[in-house]
Amino acid sequence: MKINGKTRLIGLIGNPVEHTLSPIIHNGISERMGNSSVYVPFKVEKDGLADAVAGAYELNILGMNVTVPHKNDVMNSLIEVDEAAKQIGAVNTLVRVERTDVETQENNHLSDKKTYGYKGYNTDMLGLQRQIHEDGILLKGNTVVILGAGGAAKAVVYMCLLEGASKVYILNRTLEKAIAIAEDMSHLQDLAKDTCIVPLPLAEYSAISEKDLIVFQSTSIGLSPNVEDVVLDDAAFYEKVKVGIDLIYNPANTKFMQLVTAHGGVAYNALKMLLYQGVIAYELWHDLKVPSEIVEDIYVDLKRAVYQKDNIVLIGFMGSGKTTIGQELAKRLHMQFLDTDAYIEEKAGKSIPAIFEEDGEEYFRKLETSVLEELRDGLHNTIVSTGGGMPLRKQNANLLKEIGKVFYLTAANQVIFDRVKGGTNRPLLKCENPYEKVCALMKERRPLYENAADYLVDTNCNDIDEVCSEIINKR
Ligand code: NAP
Repeated sequence: MKINGKTRLIGLIGNPVEHTLSPIIHNGISERMGNSSVYVPFKVEKDGLADAVAGAYELNILGMNVTVPHKNDVMNSLIEVDEAAKQIGAVNTLVRVERTDVETQENNHLSDKKTYGYKGYNTDMLGLQRQIHEDGILLKGNTVVILGAGGAAKAVVYMCLLEGASKVYILNRTLEKAIAIAEDMSHLQDLAKDTCIVPLPLAEYSAISEKDLIVFQSTSIGLSPNVEDVVLDDAAFYEKVKVGIDLIYNPANTKFMQLVTAHGGVAYNALKMLLYQGVIAYELWHDLKVPSEIVEDIYVDLKRAVYQKDNIVLIGFMGSGKTTIGQELAKRLHMQFLDTDAYIEEKAGKSIPAIFEEDGEEYFRKLETSVLEELRDGLHNTIVSTGGGMPLRKQNANLLKEIGKVFYLTAANQVIFDRVKGGTNRPLLKCENPYEKVCALMKERRPLYENAADYLVDTNCNDIDEVCSEIINKR
């Protein structure tokens, strides 16, 4: 990203902030949209919060995210707080209100109240709302169970009111906290008129008699590395669950989610909530809509950052050395080696040309994608060599990035041609002028390979040792 005199700063205030994933979201969007704004985390102590917010404004900072422990206290330093954030009692996004925007108001209404500064929003709740809408989860008229009564649970309760759930159970180990949320929300007469809120001690979950429950797991139980922990493990409870959403996204498939699916329900984690809270904040700061293709790309980046796999994926045209280099790397790094074409053939019980001939290309493409999904979910410590056409589809390119770090083995057209010209098993090159065919295909594919890759590795040298060392150093 080019930083120049017009670059705007956006950032995060909290403590600690070192492990935040938000730079991936915001810098990723800016880079892809060509916006000159840079997102930086700022560690802010409790007693420095008001100064930090005032200073940020004077430094012309466009907007800020706020995280623990400041989500509540920051409200004292804002000129206005959005209604939802006020009711939830937490602000995670500050949006700049310019002096010039309010000059007219100031002239018209002589007031002591400061009218420029930051306005606070809660995009956590909006992010979760966008996720459930996208996943087609309908709360209206349904019974919802919220496990937990912390900060996140309160945002979920508010969302349930907005969405018109008929009944909301709040189950918490500490009953007083569930009661406090229920009381706070019951004061919202207009919003809460269609929804009955019932606080319960966690241990009394069997008092819930309704079926087809939509359950939000909002406790911190089950978070990695404690992946075997779960807040409730009684099968009788899960038999009543239609949909389960775990606010935890690491691991990707929590114990709670496993129990929901084991009893016939549908389960989601809430990585999309994290994604969308960021996207919505970005949209508020920049006053624009982030295109859905960019949001999808950022989601891939986030998944990679959270579920980072140790695999190495090799892509490139035929003759680029994926198999030779892959096998050598596997030997050197004591990793497994997997060739996706061979794996597909083994699964299908026939050769790839036979799949094309008997089942058609569309079937083969679907097979490729389902194999990549399977590998994404289970593969570790493996060098993956891919078919030359595998990364050309965007969906597959995204999946490859989730499987591991992707290396594009490049070579000049002439070098590729010299490597493959004697072979008999290259149907694509069975034509009058195979060199021209290589050039035409490479012209089309090179940008797609480049887009699908994290790293480009030049193999023109034909030196296996050198290429392997470069990959090992870059990984
Ligand atoms: P919080 O305010 O600290 O609340 C924690 C909740 O977990 C409380 O209800 C607490 O019950 C319950 N709990 C903790 N240990 C328990 C135990 N051993 N047995 C029973 N209950 C227990 O945390 P929060 O901010 O609400 O966050 C909750 C979870 O949501 C976290 O895992 C967080 O990572 C996740 N989250 C995800 C996103 C996202 O973008 N996906 C956003 C926000 C939060 P007591 O009240 O009895 O202590």
